[in-house]
Amino acid sequence: MNEFTPTSLASPARLGKDVPRSAYIHVPFCVHRCGYCDFTLIAGRDQLMDDYLIALEKELERQVKTRREIDTLFLGGGTPSHLTLPVLEKLFSLLNEWFELAPGYEFSMEVNPAGLLVEKIDLFRAAGINRISLGLQSFDNEILKTLERDHNRNDIERVVEQLQDRFENISFDLIFGVPGESVALWKETLSRAVSLAPPHISTYGLTFEKGTDFWIRRERGELRQHTEEVEQEMYRMSMEYLPEQGYDQYEISNFAKPGFTCRHNQVYWNGASYFGLGPGAARYLDGVRTTNHRSVLTWLKRTLAGECGDGESEELNPEEKARELAVIQLRTTAGIPLKEFELRSSYDLLELSRSVIDKYHQAGWLEVTDEVVRLTPEGRFVADTLVVDFL
Ligand code: SF4
Repeated sequence: MNEFTPTSLASPARLGKDVPRSAYIHVPFCVHRCGYCDFTLIAGRDQLMDDYLIALEKELERQVKTRREIDTLFLGGGTPSHLTLPVLEKLFSLLNEWFELAPGYEFSMEVNPAGLLVEKIDLFRAAGINRISLGLQSFDNEILKTLERDHNRNDIERVVEQLQDRFENISFDLIFGVPGESVALWKETLSRAVSLAPPHISTYGLTFEKGTDFWIRRERGELRQHTEEVEQEMYRMSMEYLPEQGYDQYEISNFAKPGFTCRHNQVYWNGASYFGLGPGAARYLDGVRTTNHRSVLTWLKRTLAGECGDGESEELNPEEKARELAVIQLRTTAGIPLKEFELRSSYDLLELSRSVIDKYHQAGWLEVTDEVVRLTPEGRFVADTLVVDFL
């Protein structure tokens, strides 16, 4: 854990009622849509980038209202690094108008290797970005082809070197469980990643989301999904190998060298407030969770017309907020600190979720002490199923 504590034990903020000190900006442009991707984005419509900036400014006026000091800023997508140089310059200057980065800030950006010019990398640095999340996914050209990514192993070698010359805090995103990928190949991927020494690595299991090309191709028998056993073996390998190499697992999918956990994500995991701008972006303000419209064109049209680009919005009651906090914190390896949980939510977790905790404790999936409830390594395999029972 690093020193960033948006809601510390000493002064526990009520869930989502604190002053937001973080912002997420969703950049919805990609070259094309990869077969497995169901994110909010628009592919091959780069002519809309200028309209996007105008809409974003209108949303900043509506949501953020005045210039704010923040601790963490995250540019995600889509592919933020796909924006053209002039659009990136305008975006950074817009963000600078609205957000003052506090001393010790973290400014992250998701970057893809394909077509990444060194001029852009220099611009990221000049704009104050100090953390890069690099979407590598694999080092194997066949796997990258299956995933329909635009980059290959040579692009990775070049881009990693250029980024490492300019940034210390780099995270690699990797995907396991890709059709055609063996357990040995996944081990090779992890080991290649470690040899490049990024201070942070995220590993995600491939999912077949309904409506994606991958989903359709699996239904047709064109893509074969790995068995659960193979997926678990790959995940187990990450959980064993990466800590051996000095990367502590601090969340289901995240591993970091000491001092390099992602501070922005910790805002979500602490149930703190944050701004969320751009299509499909979620925000949590004054205890209300709102998600912008997921259709890029609808969000653009409404926002440009001066209308609200919100999609869904819900204000959780105190018990629902407490349960949601439990679910979010359970994904972290630190688990749910019981005293802090009660201070922030006014609920005693062991009373609120007694039967679920007993059930999974007996199954060996939860560790329960007087101080904390957390997933055991075995429990991390079934986290998605398990956490639902806490809601
Ligand atoms: S580059 Fe990333 S965000 Fe864009 S389509 Fe592919 S997986 Fe989705």
